[in-house]
Amino acid sequence: MEKHIVASCIEYMGSDHTITNSARVSFAKHEYPEYDENTDTYILSEKDTKLISYLAKHRHMSPFGHNFATFHCKAPVFVARQLVKHKFLRWNEISRRYVDDKPKFYTPLRLRERSKDKKQGSGEVLRDDDLAFNILNDYHQRAVNDYDRLLAEGVCPEQARMILPQSMITEWYWSGSMDAFSDMCNLRTKSDTQYETRVLANQIDSILEDIWPVGWKALRC
Ligand SMILES: Cc1cc2nc3c(=O)[nH]c(=O)nc-3n(C[C@H](O)[C@H](O)[C@H](O)COP(=O)(O)OP(=O)(O)OC[C@H]3O[C@@H](n4cnc5c(N)ncnc54)[C@H](O)[C@@H]3O)c2cc1C
Repeated sequence: MEKHIVASCIEYMGSDHTITNSARVSFAKHEYPEYDENTDTYILSEKDTKLISYLAKHRHMSPFGHNFATFHCKAPVFVARQLVKHKFLRWNEISRRYVDDKPKFYTPLRLRERSKDKKQGSGEVLRDDDLAFNILNDYHQRAVNDYDRLLAEGVCPEQARMILPQSMITEWYWSGSMDAFSDMCNLRTKSDTQYETRVLANQIDSILEDIWPVGWKALRC
């Protein structure tokens, strides 16, 4: 379990019915979903399920854009650096100009070997990893000490952060529409993405599948 790489859903808006009704407005139509008291849920009709798959298949994307979600994510900087490139997801991140708390670092559960295929970032699990883990842990300890020493010397946080490594845990709010999150998950859950980035994308994938089961499945490929 990667306890330092976490996505928590803060809030969300919309349902599978939001998708179908925002498509139906083209014909000045709106359908009220049937409520199931036993399961305390609204039932999506077969007609609605078919409409959602039609919309997804023909890339009629705007009806999916009325569902929104906000996540609070925590991950190392090198993961955040990859994910911030998804331009349609709004991003607000902790700033080490203002915060000088003791930094936390990500230590992987396993280290991986270099891959033989350059396009694949890593290969098999590294077997003899004692020395490598020692190097990593020593470096983290040194980074914290040196960061504190720079602050103690009177250096401002926005400059002292220069010596903090990419393994430092950062955190951000990440919000956007269902279609923007599905674009991100379609790319970042694939096996050719970096494992640590996939860990975060997989969590978002499974949360959004619970929230919007039919629409989410239709957009995922
Ligand atoms: C396995 C992998 C490896 C990668 N390696 C690198 C790398 O080495 N270096 C690097 O810099 N990046 C890399 N990336 C990032 C990649 O280049 C994209 O920036 C990132 O995946 C976001 O994709 P996107 O632009 O489709 O996403 P989003 O910003 O979420 O955009 C979604 C979609 O909106 C449309 N769109 C977005 N912006 C515009 C625009 N300005 N004009 C018109 N249409 C737009 C496009 O259809 C786009 O696909 C990598 C990504 C992956 C998944």
